[in-house]
Amino acid sequence: MLVYNSQTHRKQELEPIEPGKIRMYVCGPTVYDQIHIGNGRTFLSFDVIRRYLMFKGYEVTFAQNLTDVDDKIINRANEQGRTAAEVAEEFSSKFIEQMHRFDILDPDIRPRATREIEAMQEMISLLIEQGNAYAVPSGDVYFSVRSDHSYGVLSGRDLDQLRAGERVEVNDEKRDPFDFALWKAAKPGEPSWPSPWGEGRPGWHTECCAMIHRYLGTPIDIHGGGADLIFPHHENETAQAMCAWHAPLANVWMHTGMLQINEEKMSKSLGNFYTLKEVLDRYPANAVRILMLQTHYRAPLDFSFDRLDGAVSSMERLLSCVKNLRWAAHAAPQDGNLTDADRSLGEAVDAAHAEFVASMDDDFNTAGGLAAIFGLVTASNKYLAEAAGSIETAVTLRAADTLVELCGVLGIDLTQESADDDLPAELVDLAAERAGYAGSSAAEAAEALLEARAQARKAKDWGTADAIRDGIATLGLIVEDTAAGARLRRKKD
Ligand code: AMP
Ligand code: ZN
Repeated sequence: MLVYNSQTHRKQELEPIEPGKIRMYVCGPTVYDQIHIGNGRTFLSFDVIRRYLMFKGYEVTFAQNLTDVDDKIINRANEQGRTAAEVAEEFSSKFIEQMHRFDILDPDIRPRATREIEAMQEMISLLIEQGNAYAVPSGDVYFSVRSDHSYGVLSGRDLDQLRAGERVEVNDEKRDPFDFALWKAAKPGEPSWPSPWGEGRPGWHTECCAMIHRYLGTPIDIHGGGADLIFPHHENETAQAMCAWHAPLANVWMHTGMLQINEEKMSKSLGNFYTLKEVLDRYPANAVRILMLQTHYRAPLDFSFDRLDGAVSSMERLLSCVKNLRWAAHAAPQDGNLTDADRSLGEAVDAAHAEFVASMDDDFNTAGGLAAIFGLVTASNKYLAEAAGSIETAVTLRAADTLVELCGVLGIDLTQESADDDLPAELVDLAAERAGYAGSSAAEAAEALLEARAQARKAKDWGTADAIRDGIATLGLIVEDTAAGARLRRKKD
């Protein structure tokens, strides 16, 4: 399968370092606030990449850090009169909560910067010993970019170009303006740890690098994050790894495109800023996923609530197609003779599977994967409309199972019962009265009522048919006549 490597700017065959295994790391959030939907897009993209690698049979080890000590956290804590640790703890759990709501799989390893100080200090000491870093009188330690001949290899910049083009912080203690802090001397009131260079805290770039080395070993197969992290964060991470352990940090670097709102940058000042929480409060996770996966992970994603409403309709089409297929398969006569329609549905299932895999094998083309899924929805709906009355159970169930399976690879969970499926227990009494039903299952009661209604209509006994429909309506349900037969769903207010 082909994967685009941001370092080489081309797609290359994925060649795991250890056969059958993938070790991957995705930079986690700085926990000082609720994450926004742009962050959500990046984490979702890597969730799908991970799920697809697992689907392909790889044993994937996935690590993601929590940056729980940082200027932003310290500033927030000062504003609120709390400790940085309290702020970090609050937003770490809020982050994890939103990841769960978004059906993002937990990482196998979730290191927190504040608990990895030792690993970071070991790396810094090694860099100093090897001449790649230096401590200054204030207690900071800097990485010396000039000591690293390959500096710029990831982002494709060289230092002269950088010096000419970018504004950097002026600091007399640095030997080069692009030298970056590995260790920051403590300021009063800030969280700090003892070190050979005095009290202080680690720099952001140091954190990921030391944790990757400690938990996964370097190089890893895949290192990911948003495209805004390529420079300087990932450039600095890989420079440290190269100098400390004389091996690259990662074989493949993957970066996601930025999320934009109506083609503008999302920002608080433009008033177009949304947290993942507020979007998931209003929309099902499946719909947000469908919207995001309609765009390739490397392209900019244009987010809008109109598009999200469209994704809700797509999700409903998917859900009702699966339900109708199951319903039809259940009610079907099984004569074992395949019709042309049965055969072509079978072919549509195979084609959808093949198209899904071909798309995803091409650098995780989720838009192509979704197109394959929706192609099968169209073929299934056509089959249900045309083959009504002569449904082939096995092929119909295979279509439903394939939709559920392929969606599952994208993290779109069709197995969760939708709210429409919570049938009220009162159906049992109604069915006992109107359809002679003697059991206790609401689902069976619904079937018995629909069957009694169908019989009454067949016999042109409209009074009975309407009475059954009205009884159902008093329970807040409506009878929906679909190509695959009637079913009950909850009335929408
Ligand atoms: P941060 O907490 O700022 O380090 O962001 C966490 C992750 O979200 C990083 O991988 C960023 O690259 C990514 N990210 C930040 N803004 C956006 C955006 N607008 N669209 C997509 N990803 C983003
Ligand atoms: Zn990182």
